[in-house]
Amino acid sequence: MDKSHEYFLRAKNVTPGGVHSPVRSFKGLHTTPRFIQEGRGAYIKDVDQQQYIDFCMSFGPLIFGHQDADVKQAIIEALDRGWSYGATEPYSLELAEFMVKNIPFIEQVRFMNSGTEAVMTAVRLARGYTGKNKIIKFSGCYHGHLDSMLIKAGSGLAGTAEASSKGVTPKLAQDTLVVELGDIKELKKCLKAHQGEIAAIFVEPLPANNGLLIQTEEYLKTLRDLAHENQALLVFDEVISGFRVAFGGMAEKTGIIPDLVTYGKIIGGGMPVGAVAGKKKVMEMLAPIGPVYQAGTLSGNPAAMKAGLASLKKLTPQFYIDLENQTKEVCKIFHEWMIAHHFSDYQIIQFSSLFWFVPSHQKIKTLTDIPHNLNERFFELFKELLNKGIYLAPNAYEVSFMSSAHQGQVLEDLKNKLWK
Ligand SMILES: *Cc1c(COP(=O)(O)O)cnc(C)c1O
Repeated sequence: MDKSHEYFLRAKNVTPGGVHSPVRSFKGLHTTPRFIQEGRGAYIKDVDQQQYIDFCMSFGPLIFGHQDADVKQAIIEALDRGWSYGATEPYSLELAEFMVKNIPFIEQVRFMNSGTEAVMTAVRLARGYTGKNKIIKFSGCYHGHLDSMLIKAGSGLAGTAEASSKGVTPKLAQDTLVVELGDIKELKKCLKAHQGEIAAIFVEPLPANNGLLIQTEEYLKTLRDLAHENQALLVFDEVISGFRVAFGGMAEKTGIIPDLVTYGKIIGGGMPVGAVAGKKKVMEMLAPIGPVYQAGTLSGNPAAMKAGLASLKKLTPQFYIDLENQTKEVCKIFHEWMIAHHFSDYQIIQFSSLFWFVPSHQKIKTLTDIPHNLNERFFELFKELLNKGIYLAPNAYEVSFMSSAHQGQVLEDLKNKLWK
């Protein structure tokens, strides 16, 4: 029995399913999750000393790879002074100023500890600001594990919804309406049926949590216009896309400006950080100025703020051009291998430094476009790659993440691992 196997048995005794976030359990992949002991650059190593090229990258935060020297230095310097005060400190100030200066459409930012917290705050803030109760989300978008977002489409009228998790009350589910991604007609119907009730429309402007469901700019523009016609806020959940597709995320890339934006993942450089940002008049609804309460014992944690700032400072326009080129190269390497082997039914959908393997040659824009054999096919692909020393996020619906460390020798190594 290898060590990962042994650790997993032990973990299952003391933790539900052996994991602290469900996707890590390798459920449905007919193999044991690897216990990762260390990471360096584009590589991770497990407790059995197996090395893998990592395309999960902690699900996105590590845009420079593991142990980036600048980020590491920033964390060490921060730790040298202490690591939590529960008081005002200069570290979050520096990061907030850097963001406000470099993202033209945000005037204020509030830091918290995760993407989920950021979305949770945005929901409350949108309600507090508009004085309305209901929010709209789209099937195919993920917004973290807050109750209000663990809601899926129901079978009734446009927008009717039900909880997608036990423990979410039907009463709460009534305040979240779920509409099919890309379907403007259904959205209009929903807005009409709930006129005067909608506080906000939440969308992942680049839906990247149920595969990669790239939407058109036209669609995002229509969302903005419909939100505003209905005196609702448009909220871009850029927890994945923020600082990944461009410094200012999809909002910068498309020029479509949301009323509120949520960040996470890259903003903490691999440390736990989430943020809500927007115009002052909305943000100042938050306590202590406004009546919308939000707080956090560890919010603005100095080491996390320093890691975030060190990361954000490295994200130049040229960085994104280079990273996208590396991504295209990686996709080409995978694709050539796949068509020559038994994965020729696959395409790789790529956007910026994200890509997704899907066993179909059709256009995939909504959940309903995703082929039914996705999971079955993925487990074969995943297992074969894992055996070759290539680590994908362990779920068919998760995208792959590139880092700047995936270049040069790493790409040669990828070719060798695939073809050997
Ligand atoms: C990851 C993610 C979240 C949740 O962030 P956590 O830090 O895992 O709580 C929310 N929204 C989107 C779009 C995400 O990708």
